[in-house]
Amino acid sequence: MNPFRYHQPTEIRFGAGRIAEAGPAAASCGTRCLLVTEPVFPAVEPHHRKIKASLEAAGIPYAHFAGVTPNPTTAVVAAGARLAREFRADVVLGMGGGSSMDTAKAVAVEATHEGSCWDYLFFRPQQPTDKTLPVVAVTTTSGTGSQVTQVAVVTNPGEKNKSALFHERLYPRISVVDPELMLTLPKSVTASTGFDVLAHAFESYINPGGSPYTDMMALEAMRLVSGWLPAALENGGRLEARTWMAWADVLGGLCIANAGVTLFHGIGMAMGGLYPHVAHGEALASVYPAVMRYSWDSAPAKFAAAARIFDRSLERLGDAAAAERAPEVFAAFLEKIGLRIGLQDLKIPEAELGALAQASLVLPDYKNHPRVAGPDDVYGVLKNSHAARRGKR
Ligand code: NAD
Repeated sequence: MNPFRYHQPTEIRFGAGRIAEAGPAAASCGTRCLLVTEPVFPAVEPHHRKIKASLEAAGIPYAHFAGVTPNPTTAVVAAGARLAREFRADVVLGMGGGSSMDTAKAVAVEATHEGSCWDYLFFRPQQPTDKTLPVVAVTTTSGTGSQVTQVAVVTNPGEKNKSALFHERLYPRISVVDPELMLTLPKSVTASTGFDVLAHAFESYINPGGSPYTDMMALEAMRLVSGWLPAALENGGRLEARTWMAWADVLGGLCIANAGVTLFHGIGMAMGGLYPHVAHGEALASVYPAVMRYSWDSAPAKFAAAARIFDRSLERLGDAAAAERAPEVFAAFLEKIGLRIGLQDLKIPEAELGALAQASLVLPDYKNHPRVAGPDDVYGVLKNSHAARRGKR
C-alpha cells in the first residue's frame, strides 16, 4: 500500500430537518452573516423561509445575496463580495447546489482580499490567507460534494474559462446536509447532479493518487448511486432515496477532496467554460462512455470492480473482460437515468472540438487519469462522444 494523507476539517451535520441548525451553525462561526443563494423561486421558497427562520432564531444579523447563477461567474462573486463588505459580514452561509456553495466560498475570499477571486485560482502565487471568512454550507442538490471540499469553481466569461480556487481555507467549517431540501429537485437536476456523484466516486477510485480510505468511500458511493439514483428518479418525493443520495454525495465529496477527479472532469470543466449553458453533470455524461473506452485497460481491476457494482453478472468474468465491458455498463446506466447523450445534444459544434480538446488539458485533472491523454486522444474521444446522440447506444 502506498503511503497517504487523509484530511477533512468540515463538521458534517447530516439528517432530515437539520436545516434548523444552519443559523446556529453560522452564529458559532461569526456575528454578522451573508446568506448566499440563487434568486428565490417557488420550489425553493420553503427552504429560504426555513433558513431565514433559523438565522433569526439564532439571533445573528444577516444580509441576503440572492444573485447566484448556475455555473457562477466572476461578476456574480464580485457582487456578493461587495455586499459582504458593505454589510461587514464575518461569516458566509451558502445554501443551494454547487453553484451557491462555491459562490459562498469565493465570496469569502474576495470580500477579504485585494483584487478578484480569479486572482486566487489554485495555480496563482497568491493564495487565500487566514483573512478568508468562515463558510457554512447547506447543500440542496446531491450533488457536487462542495459542502465538504476545499474547491470553489468559478467561470470567467471574458476568458471563456472555468477554473477553480483550491485551498484548505475554503473547506466549509460546518456543512448541513438535510435530505428534505432535495425533495424539490426536478428530475433533470436529480439525474445530472446524481451522475456527478457517481463521477466523483469513480474518478477518485481510478485516480492513482487515491488511497484505501477514499477507495472504501468511493465503492460505497457507487453502490448507493446504482440503486438509489433510479429510485429518486422514479419517486422524487421518497425521503429514503433522497437521504441515501445525499449520503452518497457527501462520500463523493470526501473522495474528491482527498483523491481528486480525472480526465472526465478536465473535459467537463472545459465544456462548462466554453459552453456555460451546459449543466456540469450533463457535460460529464456526454463523454463518460468514450473516455472509458479509451482508458479501461489502464486500470482493469478498478474498472472491473466499478462495472460489477452496476452489473452483477460481471462477477463471473475476470478483471480484463469485466473492465472491457465497463463503458457499455455505464452507458446503460446513463440510459436508465435519461442521460445517454452526446455532444450534439448539448449543441456543441463539431467544428469546435479541436478547441475543446485543447481546453480540456488546461486543468491538471487529466494528469491524474490512469492513461494520460494528449490533445489528439482527447479530440478522438470528443469525436466519438459527438456522434453518440440521445437515445442512440
Ligand atoms: P446548481 O447549483 O447550478 O443547481 C442546478 C439547478 O438546480 C439550478 O437551476 C437550481 O436552481 C436548481 N436547484 C438546486 N437545488 C434545488 C432544489 N432543492 N429544488 C429545486 N431546484 C433546485 O447545480 P450543481 O450541479 O449542484 O452545481 C454545479 C456547480 O458546482 C458547477 O459550477 C460545477 O462546476 C460546480 N462543482 C463544484 C464542485 C466542488 O467541489 N466545489 C464539485 C463539482 C462541481
